[in-house]
Amino acid sequence: MLSVRSTVSEEIQEIIIIGSGPAGYTAGLYAARAMLEPLMFGGYMSGGQLMLTSDIENFPGYPEGIGGPEMMVQLREQAERFGLTVEDKNVERVDFSERPFKIYVEGEEFLAKSVIISTGAEAIWLGAEGEEAQKGRGISVCATCDGAFFRNEEVMVIGGGDSAMEEATFLTRFADKVTIINRRDVFRASKVMYDRANANPKIEIIPHRQVTRWLSDEKGLTGAILEDPRDGSETEITVTGAFIAIGHKPITAFLDDQIDTDEEGYILHSEHTMTNVPGVFAAGDVVDTRYRQAVTAAGMGCQAAMDAEKWLEEHN
Ligand SMILES: Cc1cc2nc3c(=O)[nH]c(=O)nc-3n(C[C@H](O)[C@H](O)[C@H](O)COP(=O)(O)OP(=O)(O)OC[C@H]3O[C@@H](n4cnc5c(N)ncnc54)[C@H](O)[C@@H]3O)c2cc1C
Repeated sequence: MLSVRSTVSEEIQEIIIIGSGPAGYTAGLYAARAMLEPLMFGGYMSGGQLMLTSDIENFPGYPEGIGGPEMMVQLREQAERFGLTVEDKNVERVDFSERPFKIYVEGEEFLAKSVIISTGAEAIWLGAEGEEAQKGRGISVCATCDGAFFRNEEVMVIGGGDSAMEEATFLTRFADKVTIINRRDVFRASKVMYDRANANPKIEIIPHRQVTRWLSDEKGLTGAILEDPRDGSETEITVTGAFIAIGHKPITAFLDDQIDTDEEGYILHSEHTMTNVPGVFAAGDVVDTRYRQAVTAAGMGCQAAMDAEKWLEEHN
């Protein structure tokens, strides 16, 4: 199918995929193999969050591990081989009020019978001095992904919620010592999660501390300057790893409340991977408040494409 795109495209796509992470590319692969000639808008970060990381050791099929960007190039090539078209552009807004759905991209309007949203969720970083240079060199936002790199080392977890407690407890499998710091002495974590972390002999919990500056040498992270927000006094902590667990932000603002989400903005499924708008599906971290892994995002991308294919068969 030859597509000629002007300001308003007259061609109606069977399926438009928004987002080019593991969820989007897997949805693209399945939709392309189902002969739906999918069109993808890859967004401001083509390839998704794994473009930010060097070693992926937990995606099946890579016994030696693989670099994040390399893996994402492979996922893209695999889907393109079967007919996925990728445009690395940002979707600015959508109109799901009637079918075909309208997708607005850099001044152009595209029409689609079905849509898969796979725009992910950004981890919230602290933004403390020296952070940018140490991302992936000691500072992480994913203990499941990076914990094993800190065997017999001393690490720190920043946050006071359930994720921080869970990450700290998980990290004690590898690290000799895990220090949890939290800005206040009130913890958002459930009592059971807090108590479990607090009872772990490898974990020390220090309230009233926030990172003002990261310390490093040529090998990577060496520690941080911590401030007590009550009086501004400073102490230094020595750690080679730090895990920021202060939350994630799903990328759903461009949907302008047309899709049902929870109070944090994560998209809610109403039937399998379909949203409250029939014909609009969602997959990956933009839905997932629990697992947030490449393999789970890819798995949900597959489900969304299969659900969209079935829905199109029934509603075309
Ligand atoms: C530093 C780091 C290391 C990690 N390491 C691992 C690991 O080792 N193993 C593991 O399993 N997981 C790891 N993860 C988690 C993993 O990256 C995510 O679970 C996974 O990428 C989620 O995939 P996704 O397709 O849902 O979304 P993402 O990968 O977040 O992709 C979202 C996509 O949506 C696009 N997008 C956003 N807004 C728009 C828009 N308006 N229009 C068009 N496109 C848009 C973006 O450009 C991007 O392409 C890591 C995460 C980080 C941050």
